[in-house]
Amino acid sequence: MGLTLFNSLGKTKEQFKPKNEDEVTVYCCGPTVYDYAHVGNLRTFLFEDVLIRFLEFKGYKVKFVMNITDVDDKTIKAAKNNNTTLKEYTNRFTDEFFKDLQSLNVKEAVKYPRATDYIKDIESHIIKLQVEEYCYERNGSYYYAINKFSRYGNLSGLEVNNEKNKTRLNEDEYTKDNAQDFALWKAWDKDDGDVYWEGELGKGRPGWHIECSVMSTKILGEEIDIHAGGVDLIFPHHENEIAQTEAVTNKRFVRYWIHSEHLIVEGKKMSKSEGNFFTLRDLLDKGYDAKNIRFLLISSHYRSQLNFTFDGINQAKESINRIQETYSKILECKPEIGTNTEISIATKESKKAFEEALDDDLDMPKALASIFKFIRNINKYLETKQVSEENKSEIIDYFETIDKILGILSNKTIEFDDGIKELIEQRDKAREKKDWKRSDEIREELRNKGFIVEDTEEGTRIKRN
Ligand SMILES: [Zn+2]
Repeated sequence: MGLTLFNSLGKTKEQFKPKNEDEVTVYCCGPTVYDYAHVGNLRTFLFEDVLIRFLEFKGYKVKFVMNITDVDDKTIKAAKNNNTTLKEYTNRFTDEFFKDLQSLNVKEAVKYPRATDYIKDIESHIIKLQVEEYCYERNGSYYYAINKFSRYGNLSGLEVNNEKNKTRLNEDEYTKDNAQDFALWKAWDKDDGDVYWEGELGKGRPGWHIECSVMSTKILGEEIDIHAGGVDLIFPHHENEIAQTEAVTNKRFVRYWIHSEHLIVEGKKMSKSEGNFFTLRDLLDKGYDAKNIRFLLISSHYRSQLNFTFDGINQAKESINRIQETYSKILECKPEIGTNTEISIATKESKKAFEEALDDDLDMPKALASIFKFIRNINKYLETKQVSEENKSEIIDYFETIDKILGILSNKTIEFDDGIKELIEQRDKAREKKDWKRSDEIREELRNKGFIVEDTEEGTRIKRN
């Protein structure tokens, strides 16, 4: 069967076939670096991480690029309000963005191009559009004439000549020929301060949509395999990208447009005024672990709306603990030589079920269900000491395989510092003397330090809380 993905262009699940057999080119619209990324943004970046990881899992070499929007109204305004230069301001939030990605264990792109490094290319692309008459100039600004591009609206399903759209957009847009035409280049005005470029198009700065067309074609070529982002980018951003790019190249810009759904928080639309607007640092400050946030954000289907709740983070933590615990037990177990065919088969089948679920348009809930089913099985086998040496390495391989996508497990058996070791020894001694009171006190002390004590037939077992 192989991988199928839901293509927003055409709105059907399609068999994934990249242009070149073994290399996949992926472009994801990155952040506008005027503030910290919020959980809604992070959901999109994490869905893209799962996509990239799964493509690599399938054996593709992935060339993945994500842009950084470091010039627009918001960044210019924020830099001004903070009495700093655009460059200094956007550098700061670009660094913060990279820190978030690192905390969330997101794989690095091969390149993170910044719009301001591509101004010359943007100018020459606009000039090409002008030569082909897709673009016109008004008062120093350049606009794309959408009625010149016959496929405009194909991605979003927007009717270009819809009267309602026209009147709604018309109110404050007097300079354009058509209300839905969009700016490719904005002439300088006083609010821009010292932010401008003065080249072939005159004093001004690029619009947002054009940067993605230019950077993606410049870095990945005129025909790319996958372009991804949140659903809110379908219109107008991605619609405009298609129009800008294909008008110049006369080629199909993107084979698969993949979009992730919105995120809501505690059942409500996230907004600063509702008080339910969270960045990663807000959540870390509240004591939540990035690993649990990662798991929560990737655990629902990317095309379903995700309800982000604090209860959900706690559930994510429990889920990770369940997976980690069985993995740790397997790493620590000392099995007999030999093999148990039943366990071998169960392991192979579960690995296959995991891959097949993700092959089906990245069905993560189904993939996770297969993992928990497997874990219940393996726990039974561990309890009855049926896991053989060969099974052990097969099961370790299983966990390493699923973690290529999930990115949440640790293969280190727990290491304790001397203080913890001493407490464990003291507790063992107290138990020998049947001093249950002392033993319980130490158990509580360990719990406060983040460790859970289990007394098993084989002795004391410690796991992280
Ligand atoms: Zn973009």
